[in-house]
This record gives sequence, C-alpha cells and structure tokens, in this order.
Amino acid sequence: MKKNATFLLLMVSLFATAQQETIDQKVNGLLKKMTIEEKIGQLNQYTGDNSATGPITINPNKQAEIKAGLVGSMLNIIGTKYTRQYQELAMQSRLKIPLLFGQDVIHGYKTTFPIPLAEAASWDLGAIELAARVAATEAAASGIHWTFAPMVDIGRDPRWGRVMEGAGEDTYLGSKIAYARVKGFQGNKLGDLNSVMACVKHFAAYGAATGGRDYNSVDMSERMLFETYLPPFKAALDAGAATFMNSFNDVNGIPATGNAHLQRDILKGKWNFQGFVVSDWGSIGEMVAHGYSKDLKAAALSAITAGSDMDMESNAYRYNLAELVKEGKVSVDLIDDAVKRILRKKFELGLFEDPYRYSDEKRAEKALNNPENRKAAREVAEKSIVLLKNDNETLPLSKNLKTIAFIGPMVKEYKANMGFWSVELPDVDYEKWVVSQWDGLQNKVGKNTKLLYAKGCEVDGDNKEGFAEAVATAKQADVVILSIGERRDMSGEAKSRSDLHLPGVQEDLVKAIQATGKPVIVLVNAGRPLIFNWTADNVPAIVYTWWLGTEAGNAIADVLFGDYNPSGKLPMTFPREVGQIPIYYNHFSTGRPPADENSKGYVSSYIDLKNSPKFPFGYGLSYTKFNYTDLKLSSTKIKSNETIKVSFQLSNVGKVAGEEVVQLYLKDKFGSVVRPVLELRDFQKVKLNAGESKTIEFTIDKEKLSFYNDKLEWIAEPGDFEVMIGSSSADIKLKSDFELN
Ligand code: BGC
Repeated sequence: MKKNATFLLLMVSLFATAQQETIDQKVNGLLKKMTIEEKIGQLNQYTGDNSATGPITINPNKQAEIKAGLVGSMLNIIGTKYTRQYQELAMQSRLKIPLLFGQDVIHGYKTTFPIPLAEAASWDLGAIELAARVAATEAAASGIHWTFAPMVDIGRDPRWGRVMEGAGEDTYLGSKIAYARVKGFQGNKLGDLNSVMACVKHFAAYGAATGGRDYNSVDMSERMLFETYLPPFKAALDAGAATFMNSFNDVNGIPATGNAHLQRDILKGKWNFQGFVVSDWGSIGEMVAHGYSKDLKAAALSAITAGSDMDMESNAYRYNLAELVKEGKVSVDLIDDAVKRILRKKFELGLFEDPYRYSDEKRAEKALNNPENRKAAREVAEKSIVLLKNDNETLPLSKNLKTIAFIGPMVKEYKANMGFWSVELPDVDYEKWVVSQWDGLQNKVGKNTKLLYAKGCEVDGDNKEGFAEAVATAKQADVVILSIGERRDMSGEAKSRSDLHLPGVQEDLVKAIQATGKPVIVLVNAGRPLIFNWTADNVPAIVYTWWLGTEAGNAIADVLFGDYNPSGKLPMTFPREVGQIPIYYNHFSTGRPPADENSKGYVSSYIDLKNSPKFPFGYGLSYTKFNYTDLKLSSTKIKSNETIKVSFQLSNVGKVAGEEVVQLYLKDKFGSVVRPVLELRDFQKVKLNAGESKTIEFTIDKEKLSFYNDKLEWIAEPGDFEVMIGSSSADIKLKSDFELN
C-alpha cells in the first residue's frame, strides 16, 4: 500500500515536471521567434480607454500597437465584449500572443463584498476566501485574467486612506488573510475558468508612508521590514501568488520600483518567486519625480535591473528598452527573463489554446447573476460587522416595535455601501442591485412596524438645517437608528486624512438625537477607524458597519434584529485622538513603567491624553457572553524541538448562540532585541450554542516563539515567555508563564 502510494506520488510529480517542461519549452520556442521589439511589447501594459459607461472606441494608436505586438497586457477593460474586441487586435499580430487583462477586482466584481478591512474584522478565513472566490468566478467569466489584489500592506496609521484595502495592523492576522485571499482568487490551479491570477501588492512597505500621507517615503529598519511588513507577502507567495506589484514609495531612499534589494535579493532571490512583477501605475516614470532617475530612460534601466518585469502605464520600457539593449546597458538575457515570466503565465492560463476562453457571454450571464453569490455577500457582510457598544442590551431590537426612526445621510444611499475600489459595471442599475440600509430594514420588519426617515445632514459640510426634522422624527419613534460615517470617497487611494473625527456636523446630529431621550443606535460606515468620542461615551449602542457591499442593508438588519449575532473584532486599533497615531497594540516595551491612565512624572506618555486606545485591536462584542476558564499548559518548560499544548474552557454563558474569536498572544520577556508587549500568534473563531462549553486547544511551537534576533536570524531564543488568551488585545482572560531552554 505504502509502496503504491509512493509510486503514485512519483508519477504525479513526474507528470507535473513534464507539464512544466512543456510550458517552458513552449515559452522558449516562442521566445526564439520574437524580435526585441516584440519581447519588449510583452513588458508593456496600457490602460483601456473605454469609460465604464460609454461605448468603446479603441484609440487608433493603441490599436496599431496591439496589432504590431507591442502591448502585452491591458488593464481597465470591462466585460466580455470589450476584452474580446481587444483580444481580436492581438490576434492580428504576427505571433498572435494573447493579451492579459488585469483589473482591480478588490472586493467583488458585480457582487460587491465588504471592503477588505471589514472582511478582516470577520477573522473568518473561510469567509474571506469565499469572497475572493466569488469575485474571481464573476471576473473570470467577464474576460478578466488577473486581479490587482490582494493588497497585503500592514496598516498601522489610519490617516492613510488605503487601510481600507488591507487586513489591518497585525502581521499574523494579515498573513493568514493574505494566504486565504490568494487561494480564493486563484483556486487550485491557474487556468481553471473560475480563477484569476492574484497580484500581491504593494511590494513593499507602502503602508508605512510617513505621516500616513499616501505615496510618501518609508524609512524602516531591515528588522521591521522582515518582521512586520514582509510576512504577509511571503504568506501570499506560499499560497501560490502568480504575480506581485511593486509600490510608489521609496524604501530607505530607493524607490520600491527601482529597488533591487526588495525585488531581486528578497522576492526573486531569497524567496525564489517565479512569477512576474508589475510596476504600480506609472511608478517607473515616477522615479524621475522622486529625484532618483534623470529621465524616463534612466528610470527604465533602474526598473528592469531591479526586477520590475512589466511597466504599467509609464511608457518607459516601450520607448527606451530597445535603445538600452543596443547600448549594451541592458542585456537581452535580462529582457528574456522578464518576458519568460509573463509568457509562462499566459500559457498557464490556457490563453494560447484559446485567447477568448475567459470572455464568455453565457458564463458571465450566469456567474454575474448567481443568487448564491448574493447569499455569500450577505453572510460575509454579517460577519464583518463589529458591535462596539451595547449598554442596557439596547440591541438586538424586537421585531414588534411600533415605530422606528431611521435617520442619517447613509440611510438611503446605494453605491455608498460599495465603498472605495468597487467595480462599477456599465449595465448595472445599482439602485436596484444594492440593498440600501433603508431597503434592508424594510425587508426585515413586518407590516405592523412603521418606519420613519429623515436625512438630518450630509456627511460633510456645516449645514444643520435638517436637524429639526430629524429630531421631530426621532421623537415619534420607539427607537432611533442613526447611520453616519464617511463618504465612500473618503477612504481609499489618495484619501489620506489629517482629521479622523466624524466628518461635518454628524456628531452634532448624534447629540441632538440623543437629547430626545429615545434609545439611540449609531451605525458608523467607514473605511478606516474614525474618532467619535462623544458618541462612544454617550450613545448606548454603536455598530461599526464599514462599507459592506451589495447586501449591506440586509446584513445590517440581520445584526440589528439578532438574526445574526455579531462576531467581528477590530483588525485595527481605534485611537482616541489623531495625536496618538501611529498607535498599534504590539508596540515595544520602553524603559519606563507602562503608562496607564494614572501615570504621572517621567513616563512614556502624553501629558494631555491617555495612552490607551478608544477601542483596542481584537475588540468586538456579541449578544451573548463568553467565559474563559481552566487554562492548562501541557508543560511549562520545553526545549526548542518540543511543543506546548495550551487548552482552556470556553463557555457561552448567555442566552443565545454566538461566535467568539479567541486570541492567543505571546510575550517574549527578554531577548537580544526588545520584543513587543504582546503579539498575536494564533486565533480561532468558535461557535457555541447558549449554555455550551468547549475545550479550545492551541499548540505553541518553535515557529511561534521565533523572531529576528540582533543578527537578523529567525530564531527562538531560550528564556521566559508568557502566553495570554484574550477576547481582545486589551482583554486578556487567562495567562501563564513558561520557559524555553
Ligand atoms: C494603485 C494600484 C492599482 C493600480 C491600477 C494604482 O494607482 O496603487 O493598487 O492596482 O493603480 O489601478
């Protein structure tokens, strides 16, 4: 039996090698036929010039270039019809090398899922993978081969607008999510018609932009880079990610796009990445503005030398590489390596067999209107919601309420729920396709409940004219739900903000409504942690709804009425004030006593503000209560080749079923370099019925105890550790010491 299995394995791996060889042989065969211009063409990517709504007219110059084999890939071509139209041009080229179609399918295609930061709040890797899978299925049927996702940049600064697109501040959670997203997008194998290639971005350290200003410089130690910012990229690579995108920022003075240390030494060297790297939009050209490259030609030289294989929209390779080759500054081998990486993917996608296989009208029709996708979007949206406050069991609401007032600028919005980076298809009526919060509430309550509406105010601006009507409406109701937050264009690329308080007069509206004495529930819609201290301190119930996508209204209503018991936990720390930023839970210990609320004197603190956040990383409430008891460690002294089993009892002591994200944190008490006060090293999302108890078990191994030591080696150093089991990073329920020797 064992022999047979070994034989089978051998055959499978031989077969795989043979297949791989075939693709490599095909690539090499094709490469031999290509002129240098055609090779460079493969490294050239343009954007489509059709607007999302208008009819398509392909720019005559682009048409000519595609027909001449001078373009390898297009982005921003929406739909089967247009991708076909472009591919037909490529099929008129001498070697008929198919175009690759890339698109930012970040959190859904037609069916929009919650923004990535919201999905991260679910801590549900299955749900996150499913969301990416559905997006891939829809996009792949519509002619898209390649999504520019997942973004795996660690986000420790909520001023940075792109935190909405990532998985938050934590490296461990971010790595798990990066892995799940790549698996979701790519499925089991490239070329399967329900999959698209993933593009892991932005390599690297884009999230650490100074001051949270998008595109800004990053100055970072190698240890911080390896320990905090790179692991999610590595996890995505381990999941099989086909492509990477580099980034706009410089890292320690070298623009990432021209950064050989990042792309050659680490990504293609140490990590042996075999796919290709695309530049970010115009980022090769931007090296001129950075003051790094003298002109576009010098930028092209730096980028190709540093390992950027494809040029997105800089025209740098297209107009300079041939000359650089002629001058002997760029070798043909260097070009060939980049071309091979790209061609290999085109073969793996099956495009040489059928260049139109992804543009399938019938499949698209089915995939884009599959009710299962909406169902998935609703489930993922429910799981992404975070209950921040629920005094006096204000929530869940009874379905027998007579009158509910639904107030606020978000209530009757449609597209607003889709958030930034959502795909907008030309032929979709989003007022029918998206479930607004108002629609969701109407779907939920029976005929006997009267719903009242008032807008109150806009998201921003200083106009309070609508307050009187809003207050009068609130007074007629048993309960008021107030939906406020950011507009969807306030968090995203180039949407850095210096002020994170609720925009405009929205918090004044909260005060006016709260003054009616009615029970108030606030929904905060946003793409980042916002600051709303008055609301947090005075309003009994607060639900963080982010931007939840197509099924937003239904998912919110499910949570408000208890049809879904909220289980989300914050993937980012919520500051009290902007002055605390950057603020994240896994900071280092200082030489001063921990600065608590009462700290005075020479402590590492502000004299005018507490150090603690408003809401900590990992925090989120439920309609039930969980007890943590009976911590057991299989051993308190281990050697580095041994493991410890950590177990405890989790009990649902409330009245309803619920899910709890139990979090395992570790602290290395001393080391050759200082270590964080605590670090997430594992978690489980556990579902328990009312009254149910379960033994939860984690395993601590050497890997979980390792870090980059003073010599930048990944190592577990002997010494004292503390293991903590928490319901959030600030709510440690059980802890114990152990020793590694
Ligand atoms: C963004 C990328 C995106 C690209 C293509 C750039 O501005 O930084 O994340 O994939 O545009 O749309």
